[in-house]
Amino acid sequence: MKIRIQKHLLIGVFSALLVLFFGAVVFSQVIRTPSEESGFQEYTSYEEMLQYLQDIQATSTEMLLSTFGKTIEGREQPYAIFSRPLVTRPQEATATGKPIVVLAANVHGGERTVRESLLMITRELATKGSDMNWLLDELIVIVVPSINPDGFVRATRGNSLGIDLNRDYMKLEQPAISNYVQNILLTWQPHIILDGHNGGAYPYNICYQGPANAASDQRITRLCDQEIFPFINSAMEKNGYKSWYYSGGDSLRWRGAPTDPRINTNYGGFINSFSILFESPRQDRDDGAKSGLVATRALLHYVAQNSEKVMMTVERARRETIEMGQNATGEIPVQITVGPKDYKVSYEIEIRRGGTIDPETGRRTGGTRELVQIIGADLMIEPVVTKSRPRPYAYLLEPRAYEAVEMLKRHKITIEVLQKDTEIDFEAYNMTGIEYRSEYDHPASVTVTFADETVKQTRTFPKGTYIIRTGQVMGRVAAHMLEPETNDNVVKWNAMDAMLPRMPRQSGERAGRTITAGVPVEQAQPQEPQPVIFPIFKIMTPVALPTKILKY
Ligand SMILES: [Zn+2]
Repeated sequence: MKIRIQKHLLIGVFSALLVLFFGAVVFSQVIRTPSEESGFQEYTSYEEMLQYLQDIQATSTEMLLSTFGKTIEGREQPYAIFSRPLVTRPQEATATGKPIVVLAANVHGGERTVRESLLMITRELATKGSDMNWLLDELIVIVVPSINPDGFVRATRGNSLGIDLNRDYMKLEQPAISNYVQNILLTWQPHIILDGHNGGAYPYNICYQGPANAASDQRITRLCDQEIFPFINSAMEKNGYKSWYYSGGDSLRWRGAPTDPRINTNYGGFINSFSILFESPRQDRDDGAKSGLVATRALLHYVAQNSEKVMMTVERARRETIEMGQNATGEIPVQITVGPKDYKVSYEIEIRRGGTIDPETGRRTGGTRELVQIIGADLMIEPVVTKSRPRPYAYLLEPRAYEAVEMLKRHKITIEVLQKDTEIDFEAYNMTGIEYRSEYDHPASVTVTFADETVKQTRTFPKGTYIIRTGQVMGRVAAHMLEPETNDNVVKWNAMDAMLPRMPRQSGERAGRTITAGVPVEQAQPQEPQPVIFPIFKIMTPVALPTKILKY
C-alpha cells in the first residue's frame, strides 16, 4: 500500500515535469527568420521569405497571407494583413474605423535591411500577447516586405530590366510597381505608408522624411516633422540608436529628398497619405535590421496612440482635394524648389580623415571616421513654389489622346467621356518651346515651355472627348499629370508624342526675306504670330456637361 502510493506520487511528479518540459519547449519554439538564424550573417532569401511568411501565417488567426501580383520574372509579391478582428478586404478595414498602415520595403532590390526588419515585425504582429500584437486593437497593418523581388535576388537597385522602380510611381510602366500601387495603395487607401531603403548618412541608424512636394497637403508633412519624427527619435534613443532626416549634410545645411511625385514618399502625399521614407545607412545586417525594427515599432506606436488625429488629417486632406476641384479654387504648383525651414537645426556629420582618395571616383577609403556636431544649420526641406497655375474644374483631352488616358487609367483616375458634340469654353497654353532630353530611363523625355498668358477660346468638342475632373480623391495626381509644366506629366513621359504641335519657324527667319509687291522691305509688317495651342484644354469654371464615366 505504502509502496503503491509512492509509485503514484512518482508518476505524478514525472508527468508534471514532462508537461513543464514540453510546455517550455513549445513556448520557446519561436519561428525566426533565416537571417536571424544566421546571426544576421545572411539575408533571408526570396524562397525562405515565402516559407517564413507561410510558417508565421500557420500560427495566427489574426494574419492573412496573400500576394498582390507577379514581377516580370514571375516572382510572387507577397503581403500580409494583420488585424483584430481579421479583415479580408478594404471595405471591412474601413468599417473598423481604424487607421490602415502599409509597411513596405525593398523597392530598391539591393536595399535589404528594412526588409529584414519587416519580416521580424511580421512575427511580432502575429504573436499573441506581444507588444506589437496589442496594437492590433488600434490599427490595421499590411506588411509588404519586398516590392522588388527580382531586384532582391540580383541585389541591384532596379528591377530585372535595370529600371529604378522608385522613379516609376507616375508612369506606372513596370509591373512590380503598378501591382503595388493598384492592388495595395489605391485599393487599401492606407493612412500611413512606410517605404524602407538603405541610404542616408552616418552616424544615423534611420534617416526619415515625409511628403516633400508643395502640391500635397502640408498638414500631413507638418505632423511628420512636428510629432511623428520626434516620437521616433525618442524611441530610437532609448534603444541606443540615432535618427534624423534624409539625406545628408555639411557644416551649413542638411539636404532633404527630391520632391518629384514619381518617388514613393511624394506620390503617397499626392494620394493624401502619411507617406514616410525610412533610409538606413547601415548596410550591416545586424545593426540595420534591428534599428529598422525599432523605428518601425515606434511608427506603429505613434499611430496607435494618435489614431484619431492621423485619420482626421488624412480624411480632411482627401475631402479638401475633392472640394478644391469641384469648386475650381486655388493654384496648382507646377514648379517647385526647396528652401530652408524657418528654424535652425543641429545634427551630427561624420568626416573621414586620412586614408587615400581614389583619383577616378574621388572617394576616400581607409583613414578614420570622426563625428562632428553641427549647431544652428539650415534644414533644406521647405517646399517653395516657383510657378503655379490656377486649378481648373476639369481637363479635356481629345479622343486621339488615348495614350495619355492610358497613363491616367493606371492610377484609377475617374475619366468621363462626352456623349455628344458640345461647345465648351476653355483655356489652353500657348507653346513657346519644346526640348527632348534624357531623364532617368527615358532617353527622349519631352519638356515643353509656354507663355504665361493662356489662350481663351470656345470650341465644339466631338463626342468621345475625355473629361478629367480635378474634383476627385485622385485630383492632385490628375492635375500634376495634366499640367504640362510639372516635372512628371503625360507630356514629359512621351504619352502625347504623336500629337505634339509643331513650332512655327522663328518670325525673324522669314521677315527678312518677305517682299510685298509695291511696298519697300523695311515697311513690311511681320505678321502677328498665331498662338500654338497645346492640346490639353482646361475648363476653368464648374459646368454641367453631357458625359458618362469611362468604364475600364
Ligand atoms: Zn533606395
